[in-house]
Formats: sequence, structure tokens, C-alpha cells
Amino acid sequence: MIRRSMTAMQKELSRALNRGQLSLCYQPKVDLRCGVVTGNEALLRWNHPKWGTVSPNEFIPVAEQVGLEVPIGEWVLQTACLQNKRWQDQGHPPMSVSVNLSARQFAQPDLFEKIEAVLQETGLDPRYLDLEITESMMMDVDRSIDTLQKLKTIGVSISMDDFGKGYSSLAYLKRFPIDTLKIDRSFVQECMSDIQDATIVKTIISMARNLNLHVIAEGVEHPGHLMFLQQNLCDQAQGYLFSRPLPAEELECRFPEIPQVLARNGIEPQFAD
Ligand code: C2E
Ligand code: MG
Ligand code: MG
Ligand code: MG
Repeated sequence: MIRRSMTAMQKELSRALNRGQLSLCYQPKVDLRCGVVTGNEALLRWNHPKWGTVSPNEFIPVAEQVGLEVPIGEWVLQTACLQNKRWQDQGHPPMSVSVNLSARQFAQPDLFEKIEAVLQETGLDPRYLDLEITESMMMDVDRSIDTLQKLKTIGVSISMDDFGKGYSSLAYLKRFPIDTLKIDRSFVQECMSDIQDATIVKTIISMARNLNLHVIAEGVEHPGHLMFLQQNLCDQAQGYLFSRPLPAEELECRFPEIPQVLARNGIEPQFAD
């Protein structure tokens, strides 16, 4: 592995956007009852000429240190909305696009206005934008609720990412206008081998159902994960089993194959409810 100093990363990252080194990959979210792709999560990639692909887990903290996560985040939002609109214009069935927000982006006082502006510029119907936030972003509770409520009023949906991993205060679920819980992949990955993780996954699914929230499992890699989730009535799944995150042009060629993953794993799509 190449060693990169923090200052080198900071310097290079500040030029990455203008040099066209940032790109988005997309990973589908699959409805487990009917097998359709309901949406795609946009995941940021940094393709550095010398370092190759740098993981967002590595460079997003650097972006935070140098105050770049807001401009980068705005580029992600714009690019993802534009791509999703393009898919719709090309005649793909309507899917949502999920954008991960950084803590600082979420804390911006004019976040709502910025999102509204991007939706207008790109022409994407707000119903097809989903924002992924995490529990740790809910610092300023009242303002967060206010922002989320305004977003929901125009039709944008909200997902709680990595659910169960942070300071999962159940009070948040009651107070925040959330649409979907994303079960953290650490629980999903061990759900067949670790009885406690299995119980946690089942509990999150049934809690979500009882609270009238959608629930999606992330990190679904094996057919066994899929069976477990289906048996426990999880709505949706996302993971390498269906597709790795791919550039838009590569993913769109694979859209037709994704529903077949369910059939290959012996799951009959049900068209009930
Ligand atoms: P996340 O939002 O929880 O995204 C899920 C991560 O799990 C992605 O890693 C994805 O590639 C990976 N993943 C998906 N399916 C599987 C699977 O079946 N098995 C395994 N082992 N991994 C799977 P990635 O793309 O490296 O992103 C890591 C994190 O970086 C994201 O976690 C998110 O927190 C952050 N991130 C990515 N893009 C953005 C962005 O545009 N803005 C912000 N603020 N954060 C981003
Ligand atoms: Mg996410
Ligand atoms: Mg996640
Ligand atoms: Mg995660």
C-alpha cells in the first residue's frame, strides 16, 4: 500500500474536484418482494493519477479537515440528481437516488434551499431524491427536525444510515421524520453465524415495521443473508450479491439482471401488497 502523508492528501484533494478526479459509483437497492430496483445509492470515488482509487472512508475525513466536504457534497448532490434524471429520461423505470450527507453539510443553515435549488436545476422530481444521514449528525436536534420536515414537505425522503452502529437513541425515531432505516452491514454480515446479530437484525426489522418505516439491509453478500432477510420480512436489500457500486454506464447495462438474483436464489417474487 502506498503511504500518503496527511498534508499530501489535503493538497491533492483540494485540486481533485477541478481536475475531474472525483466520480460517483451507484449501488442498487432491491425490493425483496417484487425484485425491482427501487433506488441507487451514490458513492463517491477519488481516482488519483498516482494513488489509484482512494476510499471515501480515507478521504472524507481529510475533506472535513480542510473544509472541502461542503463543496464536494454539493457536487455529489448535483451529479447524482442529474444522473437519476438522465435515467428517467432514457426510459428506465423511476428509481430514487440516495445521497450520503456529511455532518457539516447537514448542519448548514441553508441546506434546504440548496437542495431545492439543485432539484430545480436538474429537473429531478423531489420524490426521487433520498438523503442518507447518520445518528451522529443529530447534534442540533430542533434545527435538524426543522430541516428534515421541510425536505419531507417537498417530497424528499430520508434514510437513517448505519442504523444500530452509532448512539442509537430510539427517541430519535419518534422525533425525526425518517422514512427508512438502513441496518448497518456489521449486523447483516454475521446474521447467519452470530445469534446476537441475528436477533438485532430481526428486532430492527420488526421495530421498523411497527413504526411504519421502510427497512433496508446493507452489506448483503451471500444467498443465506437474503433468505434470512426475506424470512424476517425485510423490505429491501443492498450489497455485493446484487451488485458492487458501479459507474452509471456500467450499472445501467446490468439493471435488467438484478431482479434475477432473487430468482437464482430460489426466492419467488411476490406481487402482494
Ligand atoms: P455507507 O453510506 O454506509 O455506504 C456503504 C458502503 O458499504 C460503501 O462503501 C459500499 O461500497 C460498501 N458496500 C456495499 N455493499 C457491500 C457488501 O455487500 N459488502 C461490503 N463489505 N461492503 C459493501 P464505500 O463506497 O467505500 O463508502 C464508505 C462510506 O463513505 C459510506 O458508507 C459513506 O459513509 C461514505 N461516503 C461515500 N460516498 C459519500 C458521499 O458522497 N458523501 C459522504 N458524505 N459520504 C460518503
Ligand atoms: Mg450510505
Ligand atoms: Mg451505510
Ligand atoms: Mg456503512
